[in-house]
Amino acid sequence: MYLLPKTVTDKLDKQRRTFFWQGNGLKRKYHLVKWETICQSKEKGGLGIKGIRRMNIGLLCKWWWKLDNEKGLWQDIVKAKYFRGGVLRRKVKVNNGKKALFWEDPWLNDKPLCTTAPVLYDLCNEKFITVYQVLSASGQLTFRHWLPPILFEMCMKILEDVYSNDFDNVADPVTWKWCKDGSFSTKSVYNHLASGDVGVKFTHIWKAKLPYKIKIFCWLVEEGAILTKDNMVKRNWPGDPTCCFCHESETINHLFFQCAVAKVIWGIDIQQYRSWMSTWLPGGSPVYIFCLAAVCWAIWKRRNKACFENKKLKHPAEIIIHACALMSYWAGLYGAEMQSKIMEGVKTVLLGAVYVVNLEARLGSPKTAGDSDPEYSTSEAATD
Ligand SMILES: [Zn+2]
Repeated sequence: MYLLPKTVTDKLDKQRRTFFWQGNGLKRKYHLVKWETICQSKEKGGLGIKGIRRMNIGLLCKWWWKLDNEKGLWQDIVKAKYFRGGVLRRKVKVNNGKKALFWEDPWLNDKPLCTTAPVLYDLCNEKFITVYQVLSASGQLTFRHWLPPILFEMCMKILEDVYSNDFDNVADPVTWKWCKDGSFSTKSVYNHLASGDVGVKFTHIWKAKLPYKIKIFCWLVEEGAILTKDNMVKRNWPGDPTCCFCHESETINHLFFQCAVAKVIWGIDIQQYRSWMSTWLPGGSPVYIFCLAAVCWAIWKRRNKACFENKKLKHPAEIIIHACALMSYWAGLYGAEMQSKIMEGVKTVLLGAVYVVNLEARLGSPKTAGDSDPEYSTSEAATD
């Protein structure tokens, strides 16, 4: 029941960070995105992993709330020893004023008097006095020293407002300010602490029907954080920064969209499935990310194979065939109707890709893709 020192939260975060990027493996891996960004909510561009410090504060508030609102032995002991007034952001509706703290609770206005009249609060001897106690003493507050006229007037004005308030002889209901229904939740504290975060939403990714791993991949691509060679160079990697498919520098934009290979892929693909999308999709939007992710992931996997296993790409259609296999596999995430539409679309694209491959083979250059490579065998998608 205490605030963890920053050194402790930093150590815990370091372990969580390492686990996030390299799992249980001992091999050091690059941390592609700042931990602070990852800990932001998905609405603010992060992954919604909880920040330890904010959780710590939220849970502390929960204890504090219990202490203030539940009766019991431990509450009595802790109150007697430590409790010196309310600093919780609670909302009190004043009836008899026995619960509401005169200075500390926001009962008269939206903000508590300790923040709207800080000098008076500072000088007052009774900082944690209840509203009821103020009324019982006929508004006689005592101060550390004599009040200059301006402060005296301010004090009179406050008391005037106090006496114009409607009081009632029943208990004050206490509610939690940051929850609509007035009940306490740790989440509300956490969200309040995170309300200042800024970032871009990636709702289109999180809402898409894709395996979680692929969503993270898309998020990294959009964050500009995937380890293309330009990003590796920024991390002092000494290797060759040129693209595995051509001889230009490899950047995210180059690899996925500007590379000659990517242009062929999008060329074939877009021709084929533009008509496919427009015939069966209103706006094509839900499947747009789905297809984009499949093609980008297929490019990425093939690029890794070329970079790390030295397996040269024979024809860009290899990548399209792989993307088709991925789409027919991921289509299972949709309902039956959409699934069959996707399968139909995949079939069209696949036919186009196979046609191109065969044509190239007949012309004799380059060699047929996919015939000797089991990973690109898409018999289930092709024969369906
Ligand atoms: Zn290239």
